[in-house]
Amino acid sequence: MLQQSISEVKGVGDKLQSQLNELGLFTVEDLLFYFPHRYDTYEVKPLTELTHNEKATIEGEIVSEPALSFYGRKKSRLTFTLQVDQFAVKAVMFNRAFAKKQLNQGDTVTVTGKWDQQRLQITVSQFKKGESKSQEPIQPVYTLKEGVNLNTLRKVIKNALDDYSADIPDILPEDLALAYKLPDRSQALNQMHYPETRVMLKHAKRRFIYEEFLLFQLKMQLLRKHNRESTTGIGQMYDNDQLTAFVQSLPFELTSAQKRSLAEILNDMKSPHRMNRLLQGDVGSGKTAVAAIALYASITAGHQGALMVPTEILAEQHYHSLKEMFEGRAKVALLTGSIKGKRRREILEAVEQEEIDILVGTHALIQDEVVFKNLGFVIVDEQHRFGVEQRRSLRDKGLSPDVLFMTATPIPRTLAITAFGDMDVSVIDEMPAGRKPVDTYWVKGEMTNRVLSFIQKEIDQGHQAYVICPLIEESDQLDIQNAIDLYDQLSAVFEPSTSVGLMHGRLHNEEKESVMQQFAVNELKILVSTTVVEVGVNVPNATVMVIYDAQRFGLSQLHQLRGRVGRGADQSYCILLGDPKGDVGKERMRIMTETNDGFELSEQDLKLRGPGDFFGKKQSGLPEFKVGDMVHDYRALETARKDAAEMIMENTLDNDQRYKALKEHVYSDQHLLGNVLD
Ligand code: ADP
Ligand code: MG
Repeated sequence: MLQQSISEVKGVGDKLQSQLNELGLFTVEDLLFYFPHRYDTYEVKPLTELTHNEKATIEGEIVSEPALSFYGRKKSRLTFTLQVDQFAVKAVMFNRAFAKKQLNQGDTVTVTGKWDQQRLQITVSQFKKGESKSQEPIQPVYTLKEGVNLNTLRKVIKNALDDYSADIPDILPEDLALAYKLPDRSQALNQMHYPETRVMLKHAKRRFIYEEFLLFQLKMQLLRKHNRESTTGIGQMYDNDQLTAFVQSLPFELTSAQKRSLAEILNDMKSPHRMNRLLQGDVGSGKTAVAAIALYASITAGHQGALMVPTEILAEQHYHSLKEMFEGRAKVALLTGSIKGKRRREILEAVEQEEIDILVGTHALIQDEVVFKNLGFVIVDEQHRFGVEQRRSLRDKGLSPDVLFMTATPIPRTLAITAFGDMDVSVIDEMPAGRKPVDTYWVKGEMTNRVLSFIQKEIDQGHQAYVICPLIEESDQLDIQNAIDLYDQLSAVFEPSTSVGLMHGRLHNEEKESVMQQFAVNELKILVSTTVVEVGVNVPNATVMVIYDAQRFGLSQLHQLRGRVGRGADQSYCILLGDPKGDVGKERMRIMTETNDGFELSEQDLKLRGPGDFFGKKQSGLPEFKVGDMVHDYRALETARKDAAEMIMENTLDNDQRYKALKEHVYSDQHLLGNVLD
């Protein structure tokens, strides 16, 4: 019944039907679940309590015959005088010519609109005949398309509620509804559209927020289960002795968070299911170390591994460090876009012959020409920079490889469980012992000279510094110019006694590599750079990070940049140069100076920017919820996730009679399962 065409609803004619179709409403159910985007409360107040420009509701008697005048094309103005207590108020209504017929001298009306205190005038946006008592106190406001009238929509929704409420199945199992004190579905639905009181509306919303999150989480968890069960993984039989020897050869002891994450990863590898895991950890928490051990495990199991990273600089760094780590144990090669010709062919050949155990590179790794003989394990670093496409083509390579995604951008838990609900997640939430938190200062632009002397002081003590100039999104050219200008400026100040280097995205790879190398071996003391050094770069002797125009960066990015220092034993400093105009900018600077904890920071960032902006608009991949808000309602989101996990893991969704309606709803919804199975 609910799946019937919207045209079955009383009051929906052909014209309205096509208008509603345009709003994406096709079935009775669509209409019933088209929720208001906000609610207005109209409380009549005495004129003496109103403030200028406030949106107000007043009640009075029409004491002049409403006068209608037309102007321009199709524009009209209706004016009349309203007697409100002892005051004569002028009421103006634009483009509501039809109201002329409805309003007459002597009528009592309640009008809502913008109040002009000086002129005792109200610009009416809504009106209702009669006293305010007769009016619903809470008015739903729907998103409308041109041509659809709010009152018409309300009327047809009312008709739908009257005729179809009885058909609305209550999909939540009783025990859950009871436990969370949620109103039943059809009652809640009525309250969403025609709230009787604020409190009842609140409970109705609570119900739909939970329901929406639960359905979403069920979808993700089913998907996760599907991934696990339908894909036959490899069941990597790694060599425990070799692995232990390798771990013992590392110059440090793993933190317990690293050990835990590693165990989770190895467990996935052993199992016959394919790994689909996200490894999260703050900058410098030791993710790469864990990933390297896992890579090695795969090698001892007789497979090839691949490490995919977002930039060439990073690829080179990883290549060098893995090569060193695996000296005498495994053969590592590098493949990036700039490796061409004969050398490229040789590498490809060697990969195909399995003469190479580990291939490190950028996107180049997932191009068709790269053929692995025996790919067993793939690590994708900085996962959020890779789109769905790349993920998929990666999965399609080789035998169902185990896939580990790594990200150094701590993702707020709320987003992680939502955006990556179909993955398993390991979190390294502990820093290696002995790390000193980076001291962070926010300094106004006029203090630049003092910052420069500070850099000199640190360099005199044998340390090095990064100086970051901001990226100007609109123009690559300006960007580079910016970096060059700053480089010239700083060279003039510091050289020749102190050497300054320049790094930006337009340099040739050999140049980049040579600059990075010079900085790594302390030949260059200061590295002026764009944000290309943002990820992964590791030079422990650098103790100063200066960021120009810091207000232009988001919190997560600032934190990433800060993560380039504080990697050695010495105290490090991050100096944010900036004159933020707005409150958000100032707030960001403040938060940076107050915490070094990436997870806390990302939660704050989320609050400042909202979930849509967190990953960048394009590839956010975040679901849009109708009623719930991932940030605001995160507790409901967590509860829903727990409940969904239990239903799937303990098979109650499938087997328990009480969950029958929910199960039917989940499985019958094509969208629900379709759009994530990319
Ligand atoms: P991430 O990839 O999370 O940024 P890395 O794995 O690159 O972190 O580690 C950062 C630095 O810390 C590296 O120099 C690494 O050798 C070192 N490191 C990693 N794990 C530990 C540990 N358990 N104890 C001490 N140092 C560690
Ligand atoms: Mg790393």
